[in-house]
Amino acid sequence: MSTTTTKRAHTALGLISISLFCLIHALSLVMPFVVGVSWGAVGLALGLYIVRMFGITAGYHRYFAHRAFKAPRWFQFVLAWLGASSLQKGPLWWAGHHRTHHRWSDTPRDLHSPLQRGFWYSHMGWFFSPEHDATEHALIPDFAKYAELRWLDRYHWVPAAVMALGCYALDGARGLVWGMGVSTVLLWHGTFFINSLAHVWGSRRYETADTSRNNLVLALITLGEGWHNNHHHYMNSVNQGFFWYEIDLSYYALRALSWVKITRDLRMPPAHVLRDKLVSQATEAAARLTEARLAAEAKLEGARIAAREVVVEAEAKLEGARIAAEARLEGARIAAREAVVEAEARIAEVREAVEEAVDAADGAVKPVG
Ligand SMILES: [Zn+2]
Ligand SMILES: [Zn+2]
Repeated sequence: MSTTTTKRAHTALGLISISLFCLIHALSLVMPFVVGVSWGAVGLALGLYIVRMFGITAGYHRYFAHRAFKAPRWFQFVLAWLGASSLQKGPLWWAGHHRTHHRWSDTPRDLHSPLQRGFWYSHMGWFFSPEHDATEHALIPDFAKYAELRWLDRYHWVPAAVMALGCYALDGARGLVWGMGVSTVLLWHGTFFINSLAHVWGSRRYETADTSRNNLVLALITLGEGWHNNHHHYMNSVNQGFFWYEIDLSYYALRALSWVKITRDLRMPPAHVLRDKLVSQATEAAARLTEARLAAEAKLEGARIAAREVVVEAEAKLEGARIAAEARLEGARIAAREAVVEAEARIAEVREAVEEAVDAADGAVKPVG
């Protein structure tokens, strides 16, 4: 097949997947009201959520992507089957892409970084993007060598189809709606939260080069995957909750399976790893200091602006007063000038009157004949 044809095929498959994804969401919202609910139906939804979440976290993630423990070939297939039944593509596709996420976490080459391409793209957009549709066996040669895994990766929808038939056989349409519909939608978003929310919401214990966080709520709904900052710090351990109070149900189950010899060689984080690269008190103190400095600078700038405003206002007032005073002075000057002119005119009149009087007096005292 030419590259263009392959691209077109991937785009078409992507569109079909998105349509199915939307359809299942819509049906899961509406159909529970049509088929009704029972304790059995809710139990089925919850049971299939837990079992399939285990398939994703213990199987796809910890086993296939990170090789955090060992298992016999039959159990490896069981894990792959359970993972595939969650409708998140095949084990080789999932684990191969996840290895890429760790290699390039939160850089432009990361497949699903909320930092690089936004929250919703990291949550599910990347999952449907044609550019990520192919399984690259080169990313996961250690498992691509198994024929049954290659088959399952190619026909990854088979386990979900079998499960859907089982749900229908068990409880008819109600079993299908709750066991496959509602359960799968919750399972999708529960898993997707680790790619989106777990890089945004929570606390950081380790200074990893990415934005991963630890979050109890996410750990509970994903059977332990919420300790994502721990996981990015040391990705090869079977437990993601590093301390007793970090609840990690997948790990407890894998530990229990090791007691009956199904799983073995569970990889735990070495003691020094637990202490390495802690988000140090010094770093935190420096961050707090920077924050305080920025706040003080902001306050200072505010005060500076306020003072500048007061000065400008005072200057404006002074200018107003000066203009008013000058105007008054000019008025007084004009008035004085007018008074002087008037006085001079009066003096001239008086002088004229005096001269006239003198002339008249001169005429009066002239000697007669
Ligand atoms: Zn991550
Ligand atoms: Zn991982």
